[in-house]
Amino acid sequence: MPTDIRNLDREALIEKFSQWGEAAYRVDQLLQWLYDRRVTSWNEMSNLPKILRQKLSDEFTLHVVELIRKQGSRDTTQKFLWRLADGALIESVLIPANPALYSEASDRHTLCVSTQVGCAYGCRFCASGLDGWKRNLEPYEIIEQVLATERVAESESSVTSAKPDSHSLPESLGSGKDSRIVNNLVIMGMGEPFANYDNLMQALRILNAEWGGGIGARKITVSTSGLVPQIRQLADEPFQFRLAISLHGATDAARSQIMPINQKYPIKELAEACEYYQSRKGRMITFEYILIAGVNDGLEQVEPLAHLANRLHAKVNLIPYNSVEGLSWERPDEEIQDRFAEAVRNLGVTATLRREKGHDIDAACGQLRLKTERELAGLQ
Ligand code: SAH
Ligand code: SF4
Repeated sequence: MPTDIRNLDREALIEKFSQWGEAAYRVDQLLQWLYDRRVTSWNEMSNLPKILRQKLSDEFTLHVVELIRKQGSRDTTQKFLWRLADGALIESVLIPANPALYSEASDRHTLCVSTQVGCAYGCRFCASGLDGWKRNLEPYEIIEQVLATERVAESESSVTSAKPDSHSLPESLGSGKDSRIVNNLVIMGMGEPFANYDNLMQALRILNAEWGGGIGARKITVSTSGLVPQIRQLADEPFQFRLAISLHGATDAARSQIMPINQKYPIKELAEACEYYQSRKGRMITFEYILIAGVNDGLEQVEPLAHLANRLHAKVNLIPYNSVEGLSWERPDEEIQDRFAEAVRNLGVTATLRREKGHDIDAACGQLRLKTERELAGLQ
């Protein structure tokens, strides 16, 4: 089975090209076509000799994901459903210019990407795991979500750029890293990123590299449901990625009720791994805490949550639960959300309450795929 060209990093390409007797500068030309120009075919690589293009296409694939459904509009949160080469469906969510949620600087666009088809971890509230786990994404399938989203955004803005007073266009469009439409990444789509660790790291290395995506490491946040060994492994990597932990419960009793992984890695072990991460990276961690009515929104969770956040110097993102078709969980009333946030803040914790954009478009990942797959199944 041929591999996709974007599974390879620059070093591997240089080795391949030298075996072929091709000059190293050809690799940089190729990389520009792939990551700056986001081309979708070998033929577009016009400064590469035809014979080299032929060799490349004989040996590698250049799969382009197919957009099969899109929700939202250019100025709001947009959700993309992609079909992969084997027919599997995954989602990405594009969140437009906004003061950044996960990094200090304000950003233009944040893209939330998937790392697996489905998820094996079965958190009770989550749509991604409802139909189980199908497979890991390859590095190029993680990277392609960025490139394909940018292709769509670019084509939409070239349609509307004819309008003289269109203020909502990204400041600079076109090719090249300076005009990357996606300049913030959150690895919070479908799947558990750390269960696909090696492919994720390869994808992030390429998206981060100057010769690749050029997205700063501090602009990349990986979210995990709490895989302790991989948190420690990431701590030992030479990258400054940001880490978010899906906590959703501050006591083992509350957390185990909704996240089966807590039985394997209870809060004590999780907290120790986070401490290790911080000691190695000196970086602030974020706790994600979805508020689910009657499950984890009681004031008895506030003290243990604040205690944990203070101990780990973590900030807390409170997110009202997004209801999922077929599941009976609900978000608490706004009053209860505010009261919870206030109580956490009163204990000295930095907590944001994120009234989610895109609630109306099933913004939590996994939902569009689930709906589409069930609709397709219904049609057969
Ligand atoms: N598997 C990883 C990353 C993907 S999930 C993880 O669990 O962290 C990304 C985030 O979305 C997690 O914090 C997850 O708990 C949250 N999430 C899942 N379903 C949700 C829903 N219906 N409403 C709000 N957040 C949800
Ligand atoms: Fe998987 Fe994360 Fe959903 Fe849990 S919350 S089922 S780990 S995607």
